[in-house]
Amino acid sequence: MIKLNNVTKTYSNGTTALKNVSLSIEKGEFAFIIGNSGSGKSTLLKLLLKEVEPSQGTIIIHNKDITHLKKRQIPYLRRELGVVFQDFRLLPNKTVYENVAFAMQIVEASPKEIRRNVPMVLSMVGLAKKARAYPTQLSGGEQQRTALARAIINNPPILLCDEPTGNLDPGTSWEIMKLLKDINNRGTTIVIATHEKDIVDKMKKRVIEVKDGTLVRDLQK
Ligand code: ADP
Repeated sequence: MIKLNNVTKTYSNGTTALKNVSLSIEKGEFAFIIGNSGSGKSTLLKLLLKEVEPSQGTIIIHNKDITHLKKRQIPYLRRELGVVFQDFRLLPNKTVYENVAFAMQIVEASPKEIRRNVPMVLSMVGLAKKARAYPTQLSGGEQQRTALARAIINNPPILLCDEPTGNLDPGTSWEIMKLLKDINNRGTTIVIATHEKDIVDKMKKRVIEVKDGTLVRDLQK
C-alpha cells in the first residue's frame, strides 16, 4: 500500500512540483499517473524512492512512514520497489543475463539462486535467447524487457515505471504494457507515470492525473 497525505514538494530553487497531494494505492493495484511534461509525475515517483524529500506531508509504504527515513534505511526501502525508466539504464558492459544477475548480487543472493532465477525471469519477459547479448545489440523493446526483468528479479511488491514506453514505437509499447499486466496479475502493485494518452485509454486501469503539481483527477478503472 502506498499512501501520500497532503504532500508538497518545493525544490531548492523555489519550484513547487507537487502541491498538497493525497492519494492511496492499494496492494495489487495497477495505476497510471498522467499529466503533461512538468506536471510533477517524476517528482511523485522520486518521493516514493526517497530520491527527493517532501517539503510537507507524509508518505507511507506498507504501513511504514518513510517521510523521515534515515539514510541507512533507504536501501531496505528500495528493495521493496522495482524501478523502470524511459532510458532503460542498463549496464553497457554486461550482457542481458549479467545485468539481471547483478541486481541479485547486490542483495547477496546465492550463486545457486541466481542460476535458477535469472533464466526463469528472462523467459518470462521473452528474452531467453538473448541472454548473452549486450545492450547495444538489442532493440529498444528488448532493452526495456531486460530492464523489466532486472526490476522484478528480486520480487519487489511494488513496481514503479517512469515513462516506460517513452522511447518505444507503438507496437513495442503495447508488448511492454502486456508484460506489465502479466506482472500485475502475479500480485505486483504497478504505478506507471506516462503522458501517452492512447496507452492509458486502452488499458482501462486507474488514472491519477496531476496538473501543475495538483491532483486533478482520480478515476478508478
Ligand atoms: P514530469 O515528470 O511530470 O515531467 P517533474 O516532476 O519532472 O514533472 O517536474 C515538475 C516540476 O518540478 C517542473 O516544473 C520541473 O521543472 C521541476 N523540477 C523537477 N526537478 C527539479 C529539480 N531537481 N530542481 C528544481 N526543479 C525541478
